[in-house]
Amino acid sequence: MLVSLLGTGSPLPDPHRAGPSTLVQAGGLNLLFDCGRGVLMRLAAAGVGPAGLHAQLLTHLHSDHTTDLNDVITTRWVTSMGPAPLPVVGPPGTQGFVDRTLDMLRDDVGYRIAHHADLDRGPEIDVTEVSDGALDLSALSTAGVTVIAAPTDHRPVAPTVGYRVTHDGAAVVIAGDTVPCDGLDRLVDGADVYVQTVIRDDVIRQIPLQRLQDVCDYHSTVIQAAQTAERAGVGTLVLTHMVPAPPPGGAQEWIDIASGYFGGTVLAPDDLTSIEVPTATAG
Ligand SMILES: [Zn+2]
Ligand SMILES: [Zn+2]
Repeated sequence: MLVSLLGTGSPLPDPHRAGPSTLVQAGGLNLLFDCGRGVLMRLAAAGVGPAGLHAQLLTHLHSDHTTDLNDVITTRWVTSMGPAPLPVVGPPGTQGFVDRTLDMLRDDVGYRIAHHADLDRGPEIDVTEVSDGALDLSALSTAGVTVIAAPTDHRPVAPTVGYRVTHDGAAVVIAGDTVPCDGLDRLVDGADVYVQTVIRDDVIRQIPLQRLQDVCDYHSTVIQAAQTAERAGVGTLVLTHMVPAPPPGGAQEWIDIASGYFGGTVLAPDDLTSIEVPTATAG
């Protein structure tokens, strides 16, 4: 299994970090978690085109995690040479979000259908809304991949979910934005890799801007993420969506803080870092 941090940024534009998105490749599937700013550029750099995605999964509907869904939908549609319904999975509310996105795209869809003789229908999206439990997607079962969702706590943003991907004895968790909670603990339990969006509240609280300080309400701090990882006995904790973002390669302090609370491996990668997760039958 391969986990690629496509975008490690946050809502704040950063010249080096695209918006939040993570690619998990397992059992021959390309599963894209969230689709923040610049996702298709990063996906291209990882060698995957939008027509090659097997599912788009959303942890929640905050703009930084969904801003490029329209690009994923449009570009998959125009680069697929036949019908290519895109499974989109997300918390309750996702169907409405997708419907409104398609409505926004209506002009462009009309232009392209009018222009291309072989294009006679718009993008097709199969939405599955999840709150808790295993996903029932045919592509997953065929590939021997299991994806479990569980509720997270990012209030007042609600509902939100995290995901655990299991394949051939290996487990990866894409937690999304959340404070520590029971649902997160269930997902993370014994995982090989746990990807958590984090903030440094010790730094943010020194910046006298209420709107920035508000972000401390509903994100895991580095210490909380490390404590969650330690409780769950995970192998590797991956910090992403770091606020305030360190410069490329400059996250050692973040790693050191987490390592004070967690005995496993801690990574705080730049964009396009891939993590190989050994499975039972393949390195
Ligand atoms: Zn969020
Ligand atoms: Zn976010």
